[in-house]
Parts: sequence; C-alpha cells; structure tokens
Amino acid sequence: MMPDAAPPRPSFIPPSVVSCKKPRNSQMSGNLFSLVRARIPSPGKTLIETPAGERITYGDMLARTARLANALVRLGVVPGDRVAVQVEKSPDNLMLFLAVARAGAVYLPLNTAYTVPELDYFIGDAEPRLVVCDPAKRENLAPVAAAHGATLETLDAKGGGSLMALAAQATTSFTDVVREPTDLAAILYTSGTTGRSKGAMLTHRNLVSNADTLVKYWRFTKDDVLLHALPIYHTHGLFTAALVLMLAGGSMLWMQKFDADQVVAALPRVTTMMGVPTFYVRLLTHPKFDKKLTAHMRLFTSGSAPLLAETHEAFRERTGHAILERYGMTETGMNTSNPYDGDRVPGTVGFPLPEIEVRVADAETGQPVPQGEIGVLEVKGPNVFAGYWRMPEKTAAEFRPDGFFITGDVGKIDLAGYVHIVGRAKDLIITGGFNVYPKEVESEIDVLPGVVESAVIGCPHADFGEGVTAVVVKAPDATVTESEILSALDGRLAKFKLPKRVLFVDELPRNTMGKVQKNVLREQNKDLYAS
Ligand code: AMP
Repeated sequence: MMPDAAPPRPSFIPPSVVSCKKPRNSQMSGNLFSLVRARIPSPGKTLIETPAGERITYGDMLARTARLANALVRLGVVPGDRVAVQVEKSPDNLMLFLAVARAGAVYLPLNTAYTVPELDYFIGDAEPRLVVCDPAKRENLAPVAAAHGATLETLDAKGGGSLMALAAQATTSFTDVVREPTDLAAILYTSGTTGRSKGAMLTHRNLVSNADTLVKYWRFTKDDVLLHALPIYHTHGLFTAALVLMLAGGSMLWMQKFDADQVVAALPRVTTMMGVPTFYVRLLTHPKFDKKLTAHMRLFTSGSAPLLAETHEAFRERTGHAILERYGMTETGMNTSNPYDGDRVPGTVGFPLPEIEVRVADAETGQPVPQGEIGVLEVKGPNVFAGYWRMPEKTAAEFRPDGFFITGDVGKIDLAGYVHIVGRAKDLIITGGFNVYPKEVESEIDVLPGVVESAVIGCPHADFGEGVTAVVVKAPDATVTESEILSALDGRLAKFKLPKRVLFVDELPRNTMGKVQKNVLREQNKDLYAS
C-alpha cells in the first residue's frame, strides 16, 4: 500500500499547480465540495430527478454524502487515498464522488466495460485504499483487491450494496476535510488506445476553475434543468455536466443511459442538454423530435467527438437550435467553446475559454505556426492537469518548457479565431513521406452521394510506409462502389492523399463516447497491403 501522503509529484510541475495559495481556514478550503456547498440555492431545491420519479434535493445530497463520507472514514480512507469506483450510473454513484471529495480522498472512476484483467492493472497502478464495485462483480474482483491491499465494498444502481449498508448506519453530519487547491481530487485513466492507460491527476482547482468558467460561459443558473444521459465515469458526464450544474445550483433529469424515446419524452421538462454527437444523430432519426418539442430549450452542447457539420445543419433545420460544440479532454477539461451569443460555426470548436491559452505549434520544433496553419494544439491554464500518475517522464514529455500541454490533437486556428480539430496526431498518415490529415479526405468522401460517413486510416504498406485507406458506411440501398468513390476524389485531392483502397462496412466501431476507434480499424486492416 502507498502511504497516505500526497502522491509523487511529476518531475515537471505545471505552473498552474505551483502558483496556488494555501488555504488559511476551512472557509477558504480548496476542496471542490466547499464551492458545491456554497452554491446550494436552498436545501429543498431539487438536485436530481429520475424518470422513475425519484427526487433528491440539495438537502438530501448533504445528508447522503455525509453518511457516505462517514462510511469511507470507517473503512480507513484518509485524505489522499484513492477510492476506485466501477459501478453502474446512479444518483448514489454521484453522491459517492462528492463524499470522496468531502473525505479529502481521490476519486477514481472506472469505465463499467473494463474487464477483471484491466481492473487488475488500474488497481495495481493506483493502489486505492478502497474499491467499490457492483455486487455482481464482487466475487471476481475480491482476489484482485486483496492482491493489491484494497478493501472491497459494493454499490448497485438501486442504492443497495455493502457500502450503502454501512452508510445507512452513519450519521448525517460530517466535517469536510480541508484541501488545498493543488491537492488531487480525481484520477481519470485515459482511454489509451496504444500502450498503457495513463492516470490523469486532476486537482480540486482544475475541476472547480473549469466548471465555474463553464457556468458563466454557458450561462447556467439555478433555474436550469439539465438532461443528463452521459456516463459519469468520464470527464464529460461527471465534470462538464454534473459539476457544472451543481455549481450553478441547478437541477438534473438523470437518465441511466441515452435512450431516444426516453429523451424525447423528457425534453419538455428540461432547459438544456449536453451530449456526444451520436445522441444528436439518433434524435434526428426520431419522428417526434421537432421544433415544437425543443422550442423552450435554452442550450444543446456537443463534444467528446467531432460533430459533423452536416449533423449541425440538419439539427438547426429541424429545431432552429444551433448546437454549441466545444472541445476538451480528460487531462484538461474544456479548452474551447463556440460562443453562447454569436456564431456557432459548424465544424469548429470555437474560441479558447477565459484564462485558457490555446496555441498551434509545429509538432517537431514546438514553434508556433502562423494563424490558419495546421499543427498540434497546445493548452495552458488553470484547467490543465497535474501530470500522469506515477509517470514523471511521460508527464515531462507532454509539456513544453513554458508549461503548455501538448494535447496530441492536430488542428488550426482560423483568421476569425475559431479552433478547428483535424484529428489526433497519432492518426496522421505518412505516405511516401507526405503527411495526410484523415479529416481532409473524410470530408471529401462524406459529401459523395450514397455515403453516410467514413474513416480514413493508414495501413502498413511496403512501398509507401502507410497506404491511405478509406473505410466507408454506405446509405441503405446505396450502390456506390470503390471505383466510383476513387474517381470522384480524383482531381479534388492531391494524388498522394487519394485512398489506395476503399472498404465498406455496416458501421464504424465507436466507443461509448461516440469516438471512432481508428485503432480497431487499423488492426483489422493491418495486412491489407501485405501482398
Ligand atoms: P477524452 O479524454 O476521452 O475526453 O478524449 C479527448 C479527445 O476527444 C480530444 O483529445 C479530442 O481528440 C476529442 N474531442 C473532444 N471534443 C471534440 C470535438 N468537439 N471535436 C473533435 N474531437 C473532440
């Protein structure tokens, strides 16, 4: 077991971490819960409502999180300890996140899809004091938790489980642990498509500063009701959605997962919705989703994956609303956003948020490129994480000497100041020595008749290093062929950008956040040019 002391510092400490002042008393605690508490409009105000009719007020939240925090302390959790949580989404799951903050511990949410061998890696790496899992997984996880010296408790989606039984015996008063703004509040493992998954260390200040910026930028108030259908093991659902709403003193209509019928039925009761692009694509196929249903809505936001300009336009045509697209990542929270007032430009992710600097640099030299040119996006601000857990070299490698974090996203800032994302640096294709940005080729393919969407990848090629390869989803009944696509592209793109092959699939592989898993496509087609 790790001692309870603060986690090891990365050898490079991002400037946002060193510049924070020490809190002098509990009123000034940097604990994110202090701000959540300070923003409570009234104890009787609804925090969460579920379609099944469950209602949790802010007063209930205080009581429930106090019970849970007391239970954590009884289980031996002390400030700085990690609490790893792999449970189904539920209001109690959110209460557990807040309780961990109250106890001064570090919340470590884990995707519900992770298997036991994957959990073994995370638990071994993070060395949590406590692991909380669904009762159905207890038997399989018990040896893993024991091997790494962690206590194992359970929580189910209906508010049952051994942790809840302990909490039920505890009192509703708890003195929140004072934390400094630079103390860790959470570790979120990145999805990591190659190599080891990395634990992004997020401080109280990272989370609070970003959520508070979003409250103001997106004009959230206590009168807002947010439709919450995102998972909460991910930064989008937990920090961008739930924490923002709590700092606004608003309410959430809480859905365990996205279901188009359920969302359509709930829309009349909410004012705002945050989603991944897939949510909006699915809503557009729903016959009841129209202008009348959404007339009262104040805001729809999208992120975690690119929103096709075509989806943005179709949504505006159907509802009159321009989806506000924004860009962020686990390591940084939100970096940019289209404006609340002003043009929300399809295919862009808007402007850097207040106090956050975004620049575009040459990937090799780190030198800023002229405005309008493509390079790697780099970010600096109070939102930027404190480094990767126990990976000081990896952390140092991903920061520039002046403190900018190298996001790994490739993009540009246009002359009007809007940020565009062109893809991930690792998805860049190098063919015959030339760089090909997949998005440029995908955009040309996506507008062809009979094409729904495409993903362009590089596959190993003996002559070219990588061969540009298009994986295309056809519209139902479309008859478009490989040679038709290739001849349509000829003359529209430089020869070296033209796909060598066009493959057809029924659908693109996506993760739960709607991101296309290009690594899966690359693996499936690694021998395409072998002969
Ligand atoms: P995650 O850490 O799982 O939140 O993934 C972050 C990554 O998602 C970013 O580095 C981007 O590659 C991608 N991403 C997030 N928002 C957008 C967006 N609006 N458009 C394009 N890519 C996005």
